[in-house]
Amino acid sequence: MLRRSFAFVLTLSATQAFAQPGRAGTPIKPGDPCPAGMTLVRPDNCQAPVGAVPSILDYRPKSMLKAPTNPRMKAKFPVIDFHGHPRNLVGSAEGLSSLQASMDSINVQMMIVAENVSGDRLKSTIAAIAAHPTMKDRARVLTGIQFRGAGSPGWVEATIKQLEADVAAGAVGVGEIGKGFGQTTTKADGTRLRVNDPILTPIWEACARLKLAVFIHTADPEAFYLPHDLTNERWLEMSLFPGRAISPEVHPNFAEVMAERDSLFRANPKTTFVAAHMGWHAHDLGRLGKMLDEMPNLYTEMGAVLYDIGRQPRAAHDFFIKYQDRILFGKDAFEPEEYPYYWRVFETRDDYFDYYRPYHAFWKLYGIDLPDPVLKKIYYANALKLMPAVPKSGFPK
Ligand SMILES: [Zn+2]
Repeated sequence: MLRRSFAFVLTLSATQAFAQPGRAGTPIKPGDPCPAGMTLVRPDNCQAPVGAVPSILDYRPKSMLKAPTNPRMKAKFPVIDFHGHPRNLVGSAEGLSSLQASMDSINVQMMIVAENVSGDRLKSTIAAIAAHPTMKDRARVLTGIQFRGAGSPGWVEATIKQLEADVAAGAVGVGEIGKGFGQTTTKADGTRLRVNDPILTPIWEACARLKLAVFIHTADPEAFYLPHDLTNERWLEMSLFPGRAISPEVHPNFAEVMAERDSLFRANPKTTFVAAHMGWHAHDLGRLGKMLDEMPNLYTEMGAVLYDIGRQPRAAHDFFIKYQDRILFGKDAFEPEEYPYYWRVFETRDDYFDYYRPYHAFWKLYGIDLPDPVLKKIYYANALKLMPAVPKSGFPK
């Protein structure tokens, strides 16, 4: 009590000193935000800039920091991209050759095509890869599940039959199951298909029997479920892509979908699940750590959440050390020039460097400096463990 009133006196006197006649400044009550158009310049005192204020899009400060820079074009060890979306590059010999050149330039040894395809499309992709003289051992394909209409007569049996056929054709896992599952996908009766719907249990059991890890993307970044206002750290992204904002009136909320996902993982302990995008908990590693502690059948993949890893280098370092056997490298969108940002975050101690998409994150990244044995696990060894059919040539022991 004594200490608190002392702080209050200090605050008051600073405000009073600053708000003297002849000095600019708008006092505010302790804890209040500044009025619009102003920023905090002294404790509990706000001020507006002199002159026209640029849009946040035009404010591009150049860092004055002089610090070691260790850009990494190529990964230190060969990499399996578990979250591959090379799109049409895997459909033809020319496309595959171009994909190979890109993969070589960044030291990605194996591309896992995670396009959730099955049947003829899966077979034709596998055939194109197998026919390519230098890519035949550099790409593998995951099969997919089509959930729309789940619950109609014979749907479960047909889905399992398709999985079996796709494994026979060479599929090495399942995924990426997209975010529609659990949010917008409906059952045959028109209701929302929850990810933990028990009608799906025989399918997850089939995945366990067929030794297929299930790569699943559930929901969206938590900020997309929050009000689209100026306190939302994804305000710019939601303004650039208004479709990303999620209305609580139309969709279930983040907590609800995540609770359903966790109950799916718990209810199917024999099935291996890989939660894409670190389960959208990279900004809350404590939560993800608890899940990994509780669910031995759970792995995670870090595609498109580098902005959250690189902004908490000490916590992320400790997390990657602790869960080094449970994390897989994945990139998501295939943009070869973006991979080196990942290598730099994982492999260096660099401070305060740019991320590749300023609209995702207006902050800078830091290296988390992982030791070689951990790099090897997240780059390839964990993925090889989950997909025994993937060729091991090209990876160090
Ligand atoms: Zn994806």
